[in-house]
Amino acid sequence: MKTFCTLILAALLIPSLYGQTTINESLSVDATDAARNFIHARVMVPVSSGPVTLVYPKWIPGNHRPTGPIANLTGVHFKAGNQELEWQRDLVDMYAFHLQVPQGTREVEVSLDLITYNGKSSLASSKVIDLLWNQVVFYPQGVASDAVQVTASIRLPEGWKYGTALTPVHESGSSAEFAPVSLTRLVDSPLIAGQYYRQVQLSPPGEKPVHVIDMVGESEESIQITDKDLASYKQLVAEAGALFGARHYEKYHFLWTLSDQTAHHGLEHHESSDNGTSEDVFSDPNAHNLEADLLPHEFTHSWNGKHRRPAGLVTPNYQEPMKGDLLWVYEGMTDYWGNILAARTGLRNADQFRENLAATAAMLDHFAAPPQWVNWRRSADYYPEGYLIWLDVDTTLRRQSNGQKSLNDFCKTFFGGQSGVPNVIPYKFEDVVATLNQVVAYDWAKFLRERLDSKSAHAPLGGIENGGWKLVYTDQKNSTMEAAEKSGGTMDLSFSIGAIMTKEGDVRDVIPGTPAFASGLGPGMKIIAVNGRKFSKDVMHAALHAGIKDRQPLALLAENGEYFNTYQVDYHGGDKYPHLVRVEGQADLLGDITKPMTAPAAKQ
Ligand SMILES: [Zn+2]
Repeated sequence: MKTFCTLILAALLIPSLYGQTTINESLSVDATDAARNFIHARVMVPVSSGPVTLVYPKWIPGNHRPTGPIANLTGVHFKAGNQELEWQRDLVDMYAFHLQVPQGTREVEVSLDLITYNGKSSLASSKVIDLLWNQVVFYPQGVASDAVQVTASIRLPEGWKYGTALTPVHESGSSAEFAPVSLTRLVDSPLIAGQYYRQVQLSPPGEKPVHVIDMVGESEESIQITDKDLASYKQLVAEAGALFGARHYEKYHFLWTLSDQTAHHGLEHHESSDNGTSEDVFSDPNAHNLEADLLPHEFTHSWNGKHRRPAGLVTPNYQEPMKGDLLWVYEGMTDYWGNILAARTGLRNADQFRENLAATAAMLDHFAAPPQWVNWRRSADYYPEGYLIWLDVDTTLRRQSNGQKSLNDFCKTFFGGQSGVPNVIPYKFEDVVATLNQVVAYDWAKFLRERLDSKSAHAPLGGIENGGWKLVYTDQKNSTMEAAEKSGGTMDLSFSIGAIMTKEGDVRDVIPGTPAFASGLGPGMKIIAVNGRKFSKDVMHAALHAGIKDRQPLALLAENGEYFNTYQVDYHGGDKYPHLVRVEGQADLLGDITKPMTAPAAKQ
């Protein structure tokens, strides 16, 4: 292993062009302990003597919440030269650390360990790591993240390779040093690494900006992207270009971790996205179907969320709270485009797209819960509800303009402009309304306010109906729900009795207002028997079917801790799953919306 300790650079204080002081930090990360879920890091922070407060990032862009993993931070030491400094955590703000810096000290060394396992999910395994720089950095309180320049370096386990939007300036063995960037850009440029690594090009040779997928996985097989998917992701790049009309990045890296050992998530950035999926996404059709909109979603955020950002989410640094009142645009419209682009690029076929939409619409339509019931599904409404609202907007634009205009036009105006380096243009509600009016004059403020402020218990299904389809329920399985059942080992009876359970009978969720809820059944219980017979998926389905004619309620014997009770579920509708069916005589706008704007990318 080659050394990386030469990368700790002397810190300097230099005045910037704007008269503000730019602070030069260096950050060296040692990820060689990734398998043990430890990252070691050292940050050199320029300071002057006297009382100094250093902070650990709290409000993380894209999370919309104060999620900086302070509880995973351990082994923190502050040093001036060889002298260990006393420190005190702020009594109110647990992200702030107070130091007394001795005379003559120009910089403080912060060393820390980060635990990458939080009990539920992990950012590392024996084979991969997902490094989020905000988790291993400190900076002086009150300073803007744009005013901090960071020279970052990393040391990886031997033989591992990495992907990131950062520019390496020096590589040696499994170590790399990156060109200095602002703290803003560093936090916006995560790094993934692993023993099994593969990069594929998405842009035609010579075309700028360059787009690549960097994959790391638990095995060589897990990162074998199929030719069909490769063609779809090439088309995704072209489709997004056609939709938004400009690109606000110099290059784009889809960072993709394929692992069942680490978190399945997505986090957007200007020039990259951090995507975590199951290991078998290229080989298992169900996993593929479920994850198909992830990369399109995160890619869309480069425009919607990063380039254009709600004013309340544009903050000077990571300690300032974010205000998320426009997340129905930031996340809601991104959810819409994630799903539409998955269909336009063939990542989902037309039927899978509609089944997914039916499941989303049915979920919202059924699970409109009273506010006191904090069902986990309803905790981030702005994703699925935003999806339906923007479908409503798109179909309304198309109908009002006789098919001449659409949300595509809105995107070009609102997110397009001049291509170039990453920049942020904040917006407010009024700006969204004004751009919609520019596309098609209509009372958009009223339209949106009605839907956003609606206290209705039902989902906004207008977009589906305007699109020439309607939501129905039949005893045929919904393919999206079936995929989720297969990958999660669950049985989803949300739209019949109103409960989701594992195939062993462990109740995962009970939906308020449904027969299962009325019976007293709750999450955490375990169903032992159905109508006197030992529980299994087949026994349950048979009992649901028999219940159509039977006048007796379903008798579910359930274990609740040390107690047993029989719950009487008064339900006679059989199996029920949501689907979309065509409304005859109405134009198929949903079909129009999912048509690609570009010619399909040439197959490999
Ligand atoms: Zn998102």
